[in-house]
Amino acid sequence: MLDLTYEAPKPKVIAGAKHDWELVIGMEIHAQVSSNAKLFSGASTAFGAEPNSNVSFVDCAMPGMLPVINEFCVAQAVRTGLGLKARINLFSAFDRKNYFYPDLPQGYQISQLYHPIVGEGEVLVELAPGIARLVRIERIHLEQDAGKSIHDMDPNLSFVDFNRTGVALMEIVSRPDLRGPEEAAAYVAKLRQILRYLGTCDGNMQNGNLRADVNVSVCRPGDYERYQATQDFGHLGTRCEIKNMNSMRFIQQAIDYEARRQIAILEDGGKVVQETRLYDPDRGETRSMRSKEEAHDYRYFPDPDLLPLEIEQDWVDDIAASMPELPDAKKARFMADYGVTDYDANVLTAELDAAAFFESVAAGRDGKQAANWVINELFGRLNKQGLTIAETPVTAAQLGGILDLIASGEISGKMAKDLFEIIWTDGGDPAEVAAARGMKQVTDTGAIEVAVDEIIAANPAQVEKAKANPKLAGWFVGQVIKATGGKANPAAVNEIVAKKLGL
Ligand code: ADP
Ligand code: MG
Repeated sequence: MLDLTYEAPKPKVIAGAKHDWELVIGMEIHAQVSSNAKLFSGASTAFGAEPNSNVSFVDCAMPGMLPVINEFCVAQAVRTGLGLKARINLFSAFDRKNYFYPDLPQGYQISQLYHPIVGEGEVLVELAPGIARLVRIERIHLEQDAGKSIHDMDPNLSFVDFNRTGVALMEIVSRPDLRGPEEAAAYVAKLRQILRYLGTCDGNMQNGNLRADVNVSVCRPGDYERYQATQDFGHLGTRCEIKNMNSMRFIQQAIDYEARRQIAILEDGGKVVQETRLYDPDRGETRSMRSKEEAHDYRYFPDPDLLPLEIEQDWVDDIAASMPELPDAKKARFMADYGVTDYDANVLTAELDAAAFFESVAAGRDGKQAANWVINELFGRLNKQGLTIAETPVTAAQLGGILDLIASGEISGKMAKDLFEIIWTDGGDPAEVAAARGMKQVTDTGAIEVAVDEIIAANPAQVEKAKANPKLAGWFVGQVIKATGGKANPAAVNEIVAKKLGL
């Protein structure tokens, strides 16, 4: 594996009217655990089901119902922790977070405040080749999702759908280590990629399966270094939390807006009030949802219905033994084994199935050429038609077959592109299709010489011009390739034309 070393990026500096300011961002990400059943009941988690069809007595808090922990969800949290190089806590416990809302039938959410299942970890967020931010993870805890209130179906009534009630979430809390809007978005993207590799969350942001609370503050240059040296939050500015963001673009816009809002307050001699805000994408601004004074007192206490969660190191070790190769390792290996560039390695490892596709094309072939074809021809074509790699009409074996025909000199690069188009629409074995269509590059120098001689004999004036200006020899090369129906190997034609013209 390559030893990749990174330099930390510079923090984003925003010029105020009086001073320069730096951004400080910490994120709390809610990731829905990939699991067929809920955290404390056997009800299904299927998305898009008929409202209130996936609700057990536990989920809708019928009197006397008791939660039973879903072992698979616990394993998923452990797997996620291991994927983020985090400490796994063999002892953790569930607490009740009490509040009233119509989509929360229990009157409390079961969460883990005092003893989360996962402790400190880290995520490497690459921003450019060789530039990356190492973001510290503070904790990951397991908790229940709430239901969904529907206010826009009837002018007089609100409805509740309890299908999502009790679905397992992982809350992944970062330290305030992100220093700009691009970094924040890149962090969400990297976390999403790791979760998808692990199979612990599908990362579907549109469905709300991955959403972020973004904490933003601003400070003067030098303050963050003082915070880092002491871990004393007193060196940082007062933060505001922007709730429930599920778009990378809006996350960046909201941070940018929020930073400017806070700077304007501070430079005006005011104080930033710690509060929860919501981003309005239509207006491009954040607005207050509730201040710290109005913050809920959740009266957390250990849930008496659930025993503390004690897991065994052997069980954690078994999960560790089944970990897949993660994005950073795969990227380093692709660069080392296939000689692909940093940029190409990022593209090829973005999704697991695309990476696997590339590897089966590249195995035993020229890695760089395979990367070019997979990225430029295949991904380019898939994007154009809005298809995913799983839907590709050209299989890895077929693309590999095309590359083999290029490697053996049987077809030219230009023919290969035509062949790719044919296989894309009609399918078939590349070698057979090429043979059936007479796609064969002429490398037989005898045949090429005959063609060159004919063109030279028929164009004496052009010959004189080319002899005076060798750049014009290209015209002969073009004529010969045309005369052979595009089949003559261009390198061979070039050589023979130059020789015959005495260049
Ligand atoms: P709470 O439980 O009230 O949400 P936490 O201390 O758990 O508070 O912090 C929540 C998030 O806010 C974490 O991701 C943390 O990194 C971030 N955070 C804390 N202080 C700041 C700050 N001054 N600026 C930006 N983010 C911060
Ligand atoms: Mg919070």
